[in-house]
Amino acid sequence: MIDPGKITPMLQQYLEIKERHRDAILFYRLGDFYEMFFDDAKTASRILGITLTSRNHKNAGISIPMCGVPFHAAASYLAKLVKAGQRVAICEQIEDPGEAKGVVRREVVRIVTPGLITEEQVLDDKSNRYLGAVVHRNLWGLALLDLSTGEFLVTERREAQAIADELNRLQPAELLYAEDGEADRAGLTALLGPLAREICLTARPAGDFAHAPARERLLEHFRTANLAGFGCEEMREGVGAAGGLLAYIEETQKCDLGHIERLAVIDLADILMIDDSSRRNLELTQTIIGGGREGSLLACLDSTVTPMGARLLKRSLLFPLRDVGAINQRLTTVEHLVEEQGLRRQLREILAGVYDLERLNSRVVLGSANGRDLLALKYSLANLPRLRELLAGGGGLLDPLGRELDPLADLHDLLEASIHEEPPVSLREGNLIKGGYHPELDELVAIGRDGKELIAALEAEERVRSGIANLKIGFNRVFGYYLEVSRGQLDKVPDYFIRKQTLTNAERFITPELKEFENKVLGAEEKRLALEYQLFTAVRGEAAAHSSRLLASARRVAEIDLFCCLAETAAANRYCRPRVNDGEEILIREGRHPVIEKALPPGKFVPNDVHLDQCGQEVLIITGPNMAGKSTVLRQTALIVVMAQLGSFVPAAEAVIGVVDRIFTRVGAMDDLRRAQSTFMVEMNETANILNNASPRSLVILDEIGRGTSTYDGLAIAWAVAEDLVNKDGKGVKTLFATHYHELTDLARLFPRLRNFHIAVREWNDTIIFLHKLLPGATNRSYGIQVASLAGVPARVIRRAGELLANIEKGEFDRKGTPRIAGGSGAPRGGPNQLELFGEPEHPVLRRLAEVRPDALSPLEALSLLYEMKALCEG
Ligand code: ADP
Repeated sequence: MIDPGKITPMLQQYLEIKERHRDAILFYRLGDFYEMFFDDAKTASRILGITLTSRNHKNAGISIPMCGVPFHAAASYLAKLVKAGQRVAICEQIEDPGEAKGVVRREVVRIVTPGLITEEQVLDDKSNRYLGAVVHRNLWGLALLDLSTGEFLVTERREAQAIADELNRLQPAELLYAEDGEADRAGLTALLGPLAREICLTARPAGDFAHAPARERLLEHFRTANLAGFGCEEMREGVGAAGGLLAYIEETQKCDLGHIERLAVIDLADILMIDDSSRRNLELTQTIIGGGREGSLLACLDSTVTPMGARLLKRSLLFPLRDVGAINQRLTTVEHLVEEQGLRRQLREILAGVYDLERLNSRVVLGSANGRDLLALKYSLANLPRLRELLAGGGGLLDPLGRELDPLADLHDLLEASIHEEPPVSLREGNLIKGGYHPELDELVAIGRDGKELIAALEAEERVRSGIANLKIGFNRVFGYYLEVSRGQLDKVPDYFIRKQTLTNAERFITPELKEFENKVLGAEEKRLALEYQLFTAVRGEAAAHSSRLLASARRVAEIDLFCCLAETAAANRYCRPRVNDGEEILIREGRHPVIEKALPPGKFVPNDVHLDQCGQEVLIITGPNMAGKSTVLRQTALIVVMAQLGSFVPAAEAVIGVVDRIFTRVGAMDDLRRAQSTFMVEMNETANILNNASPRSLVILDEIGRGTSTYDGLAIAWAVAEDLVNKDGKGVKTLFATHYHELTDLARLFPRLRNFHIAVREWNDTIIFLHKLLPGATNRSYGIQVASLAGVPARVIRRAGELLANIEKGEFDRKGTPRIAGGSGAPRGGPNQLELFGEPEHPVLRRLAEVRPDALSPLEALSLLYEMKALCEG
């Protein structure tokens, strides 16, 4: 135990502050360092790989472990600690040490956690970094905030899975939850699945999330009378989450939060829903293997030139639209920019000169922007008037965007007049403010500058007077200015030189005149630094007052960049404008896979047509050997729909897209390892989700379902799933179903809305050539042996497999591989390759009759049914 009576006042202060921040590592500011003591020092030195020292505290008779990091390099150390799961409390000196009586006052000014870190070094330019808060009462409420841009989102869901989807979509770095609430740590960990390892879970007082105080806090922050303007007045749980989140921010960030200026509702009715596993399977923002951005659709589309544009593109991909009008407005804008190549080039050139306005604004408001940040802001703003001019009269949303773009000329002029052209990183070294901005500062600068001339004059004068030719004036921190005389010349030193220091080869002196000069110059320098700092923070404060306007302009710049990007990508890759409408049809002529196409030499990708509607081709069963390109066709169809609905041109010669409400996929099993669940279980979970939630407006992609279990089980499940999708309450769901089970092609005989397709291969000698062409009709060969041969399986094994296959096909083996006895009873019925699972297929007319509810039919419908059945008989 430390005896408080015996310790120094500083240590006492440290312990008091530490007591209030027990759960965090305390960065205690001491001059140019942040020091850490006791256990904090042990933990931090281990994580940071820095030396642990100790300081003896004589009075208390203890030795205190300590370590420190330089203040100017703190960001990277902070990042490391936060990455290692630590919270860090930053404690600053909040009065000038020169003016302090006793121990300098210190306070914790901010707490840094994974969700609260705003250090530039840590943030990814192209992604938002969210802090989330979740509440579970009647519904689930979720709020998300990006402190570095001020973006604040809120939403509610009924189902836990839907909240998990949302969290997976936006991937917050930290998630707050109410202590003792319904959603506890273990429950959330289970809900999040693998994501739990990447999110820091932080328990908070339950009271913060209660509806009334949470709402009150939001009203106070936004200075509004209610939340109706944000469209979330009715969201009790959503508001609870948002208010709880804001309480955390207010507690941990002792600064202005003016850049958080609105709350936006994530409304699922407006967006094309893509559940978490589908988003992963389709590799929209990251690849399945490796999880990187490269190789994803996002990387393929991204030709943005600003960080705001890049982040907006990512958000647009995570939230594609459903509203036909809004989609077409975007498409018209993109089309204009595709056609107006010159305009696009000019816009992109100008945009490239705009820095990250959102994050610059946050630093300005949070009070951490330095001279270089304000300079970057000035350069960025300088580009806005030209951007406005170029947009005038542009098609689609360009003209309105231009008119609404506030160039913030007043702020630009202020920065132009005040901020030095080459400011240092630090705010304490001067060179922040331009000459001519402030007369008193100019005067102090002049004294400093003249001082240099005076020195030169004084040096020359003393040389002549003393006759010491190599006499020179120098400066150090201990003695200030001095005259240095080399050893050989010491006999010439005049009386009025006062000796200060002896070196090996020289001696140093001062004179009264030199000291007088020093007082004047150093006094001026000190005053100048203080005044520059003061003027700079005033300018920064003024800039912060424009936060709202700045953010509005930042959003418009992001949109312009997004449209230019989509146009650039469309032009570079020969995409076409999709016709997006409210119809039921999806028609893609010569569609390509946007990512694979880019990986192949130009012209090597084989385009394919896909046509889905609600009459003749609602469910397509696609067969073909491995490697033929089944997955590729499936995925490219989904990607083209996503691209169209986010407002992008698409890789096709022509596309008609009747808007889709949800995309479901069951593709591959590559990410199953991550989930530590059995492949089959994951597959069936995803299948259940599809069957329970798909609507006639959905698009379903099924690749090889049923593979994770025995052949019969798998086939039976695949068959039943296909049946269900083709006929959900008399309607079907647009589905692409790739399968190895050739038996499924029989379904086409039963269901008029189901069609067979196959991907063509050509046999050539003993091998096959993949044509990658999707053609109508079924195929009944797997070419497994040929594919195995292409894959490099040794020739002897291939030969043997060929023999065995021939034997099986001739009926010489039964299904267990046992040779049949000649004339025995085991000879298969209906051909050796047929499964007997389903017996004779039921006649389509009977199937159709079974579906009919006669009481629900009008006489006219009954008549048309009769015609339909007659057609089925004849067809
Ligand atoms: P499957 O699902 O039938 O096993 P994939 O769709 O995975 O086959 O395709 C296998 C490989 O074939 C792809 O990685 C790609 O390189 C190539 N491929 C697929 N479709 C095409 C195509 N339309 N044009 C050119 N190459 C293709």
